[in-house]
Amino acid sequence: DSADFDEEVKSICPFCGVGCQVSLKVKNGKVKYVEGINGPANEGRLCVKGRFGFDYIHHPHRLTKPLIRRDDAPAKGLNVDPGNWQEVFREASWDEALDLAAGALKGLKDTHGGTSVAGFGSAKCTNEEAYLFQKFIRQGFGHNNVDHCTRLCHASSVAALIENVGSGAVTATFNQIENADVAIIIGANPLENHPVAATYFKQFTKRGGKLIVMDPRGQGMKRFATHMLQFRPGADVSMLNAIMHVIVEEGLYDQQYIAAFTENWEAEKKHLAQFPPEKMEGICGVPAETLRAVARDFATAKAGMIFWGMGVSQHIHGTDNSRCLISLALMCGHVGRPGTGLHPLRGQNNVQGASDAGLVPMFLPDYQTVTDDGVRRAFTEVWQSGDFSNQKGLTVTEIMDAVHDDKIKGMYILGENPAMSDPDVEHARDALAKLEHLVVQDIFITETANYADVILPASAFYEKSGTVTNTNRQVQMGRPAVTPPGEAREDWAITVELANRIGLDWSYDSPADVFAEMKVNMRSLDNITWERLEREGAVTYPCKGPDQPGESVVFGDGFPRPEGRAKFTPAAIIPPDDVPDAEYPMILTTGRQLEHWHTGSMTRRASVLDAVEPEANCSMHPATLRKLGVEPGGMVRLSTKRGSIRIMARADRAVAPDMVFLPFAYVEAAANILTNPAVDPYGKIPEFKFSAVKVEAA
Ligand code: SF4
Repeated sequence: DSADFDEEVKSICPFCGVGCQVSLKVKNGKVKYVEGINGPANEGRLCVKGRFGFDYIHHPHRLTKPLIRRDDAPAKGLNVDPGNWQEVFREASWDEALDLAAGALKGLKDTHGGTSVAGFGSAKCTNEEAYLFQKFIRQGFGHNNVDHCTRLCHASSVAALIENVGSGAVTATFNQIENADVAIIIGANPLENHPVAATYFKQFTKRGGKLIVMDPRGQGMKRFATHMLQFRPGADVSMLNAIMHVIVEEGLYDQQYIAAFTENWEAEKKHLAQFPPEKMEGICGVPAETLRAVARDFATAKAGMIFWGMGVSQHIHGTDNSRCLISLALMCGHVGRPGTGLHPLRGQNNVQGASDAGLVPMFLPDYQTVTDDGVRRAFTEVWQSGDFSNQKGLTVTEIMDAVHDDKIKGMYILGENPAMSDPDVEHARDALAKLEHLVVQDIFITETANYADVILPASAFYEKSGTVTNTNRQVQMGRPAVTPPGEAREDWAITVELANRIGLDWSYDSPADVFAEMKVNMRSLDNITWERLEREGAVTYPCKGPDQPGESVVFGDGFPRPEGRAKFTPAAIIPPDDVPDAEYPMILTTGRQLEHWHTGSMTRRASVLDAVEPEANCSMHPATLRKLGVEPGGMVRLSTKRGSIRIMARADRAVAPDMVFLPFAYVEAAANILTNPAVDPYGKIPEFKFSAVKVEAA
């Protein structure tokens, strides 16, 4: 009923990488409710987070004024009550807070050199904000120590994709599943983490598509699967190589495609000879006959797709896992045609766009390498500034190590929450406490803001203009429905203020100005203009013309690699880093659940979502709980070599008897107190999906 609202504004859901378009119904300056509209990724659909998870933006904990740490504040730690922060911080004017923040960071640069200051930007911000943030560190401090949460998410997938197909983005939109005969979903739980994408996956099975689900948890998509492979955690490579072994052994590969579009096939073929399913079933826990059946179904299909999530990427062999998936698609010729493709499902609403915009330590915008003099020159010409380092910068976890090593002394953190999201989080918290100066820009006093010297009150997604890029490579327009509370400002404008105070000469009047600058050195944005996005709402990149919608499937006529060929990179079996032993006999894996998103700073302040899922919880098999003598809903203690938490345990038959599943949204039982910081050598992603754990009744 239009009487329910004064205004209707179209924007993008701020949560997962599906990028659902929404209509925000606004009354008296507040969002009253949200409906799905006809965006290219959602066609009117929304999940519970998109529909009901919006009122965090009006929560009383919202920051409304800049805050400065009091001189007599207690030592830095998790000691701030977000509703009662006055003992730790005092309110300040914008001028005082910005002068203090910029002066302190500039002072560290002048005293210790530019590399003493690092930055974490955010995949929750717009493309323009991500671009400005990486420019702030590179231009302002002369190096590349700038990163964001892609490092904890799909960095290993991107490393493998760039290495083997020449581009880190998906080769086909998830909606292409409507043209597929078979699809693999591995290490992803779309019913909870990409629920609208899951509706397309379910439709696919209803019209007869064969769905192959591979996951150590017998998760919800199992009900729709032709084959459910509940493999042993960390055994991805043995399972995938066994499947590819069968395809070679039975001659099911696409010789014509391999000859025309790939390289290194003979080496891959020879490597795969070592992985017969009968030998691998004991490692991966999937019967050889099932591996053979899956190989035949995938290889003989006319069109097949592969979707994967962080179950694949968050391992010390995450890049190898993705290499196997890429090889599997290539050997079957399942890339470059409708209904085929490789699709890592992105977790945050703008993790694709923030990475595209250069918010990573090794690449400038559009994955142009910082080590290339010509590339850096192209950017410094546009920025009208001197050169910056030609060395790849430090990643999220390396930056925290560098703080402990006294190399980094100051940080600017925009919208990230490493005090909750980093592995072995006490290590990260100690690093934050050690910093000489920490500037945090956010909408709440997050766990990370607890450690701040200056907190700059920023804007929620529904309060700002800007573009975001979803998992499908669709660049979409976000529009403000309400104004930020109190004196809070849009993030891009705050970064501009800081830049000018550290001596840069930035003049942007709006995000549209920033987008125009981005287009100069980003070919991915060709034929995509701000005006067009305002008019059409979304355009997919790459886009071949100003009146084209963009390419939903790419690489039909070759790859952006030498000679246009994709590459097979053989992968060997590497065991997890922290293997169970007598003291820590079970396996801990972390992840998300439907109602909560990432570190919970937004969804735990969304009234409906918090009412549905208010309490920290973990899940384990009923037989495991019985053995512990714990009733479902009772308390357990989880301990690893890093630390220990007490948490409520649920019974869930989907979890194998030797495993524990633990969401990471709850500060009162923070999952990352337990997780292992060991990283994949290529993507530098931590092994969140495998830690040896002890479970006791508590
Ligand atoms: Fe938002 Fe993702 Fe749900 Fe869509 S599927 S409404 S983008 S959380």
